Amino acid sequence: MSLTDTYGRVHRDLRVSVTDRCNLRCTYCMPPDFADWMPGDHLLSIDELMTVIEVAVGEGIVSIRLTGGEPLVRPDIVEIVRRINALPVPPRVTLTTNALKLAELAQPLADAGLERVNISLDTLDPERFKRLTFRDRFDDVIAGVEAALAAGLHPVKVNTVLMRGVNDDEAVPMLRHSIENGWHLRFIEQMPLDAQGSWDRSEMVMAAEIHDLLETEFTLTPVPGRGSAPAEEFLVDDGPATVGIIASVSKPFCSACDRLRLTADGQLRNCLFARDETDIRATLRDPSLTDEQRRERIAGLLASSTLAKLPGHGINDPSFIQPDRPMSAIGG
Ligand code: SF4
Repeated sequence: MSLTDTYGRVHRDLRVSVTDRCNLRCTYCMPPDFADWMPGDHLLSIDELMTVIEVAVGEGIVSIRLTGGEPLVRPDIVEIVRRINALPVPPRVTLTTNALKLAELAQPLADAGLERVNISLDTLDPERFKRLTFRDRFDDVIAGVEAALAAGLHPVKVNTVLMRGVNDDEAVPMLRHSIENGWHLRFIEQMPLDAQGSWDRSEMVMAAEIHDLLETEFTLTPVPGRGSAPAEEFLVDDGPATVGIIASVSKPFCSACDRLRLTADGQLRNCLFARDETDIRATLRDPSLTDEQRRERIAGLLASSTLAKLPGHGINDPSFIQPDRPMSAIGG
């Protein structure tokens, strides 16, 4: 069985948001006083999450990325990783985090079977960190990165969003620091997914600009064989260090997309920018269904959502409308 859409894209990667809660307030994601969380009883339980993941693996999903909000604020996150890893044919399990709780959880997560982490960090300046996240927690992030490296969660990928006139002066220092500390750095173009709906293309630092910024200090050589990976990879000064650039807006990679997303409240999204969702939670909680019927129906919902997938995000189309659901309630 495979989850193939009408453009021939085979979906093998499921991004699973396990909560919409977060312990940071990144300016490009949510306002500092944001508190419009999903109702607690809408969040899927660990058993419900596992039912969807088991069915998805049966339909051809081979990798699971756990996301949030911030997944490490969910108390049973280690148990979720352990249960995914205990499946008869376990998918690869990775996780995207802001690393605030990673110093405490990196080793238990690695022991539970987590393969690696993506860590969001947009600056090396503690004061700027505080302004960008409304939290004075820079040192905790660095401790988290070091704990991930020590626990063998390799490669430790660090994702940085550059914003014009905010932190774009740190492109070169971030790369130099990453090379010196064994981080795998990727720059991501800022996407129109903020809760405030205030994304402005002119504030974005485009992939081409990022490339030129880095080339003022380094020589970048494209690494061939990208496949469905979002990042365009480059050797830095002939390697072995590399850097990635994720040009979601200026050079979309939708034609090779293999990702589906499950939100923390049980909605299936066939694209990060989907305007429609498929309700899985209702099926999970339908008392009239046997477990077998429930799993069959979920498999059907995965297939129909995949078949309904559009060719791309349409951000560059005049008709583009930002999704109602913010990034914090979808997951990276
Ligand atoms: S924008 Fe949508 S279609 Fe494009 S790569 Fe992302 S998830 Fe896939």
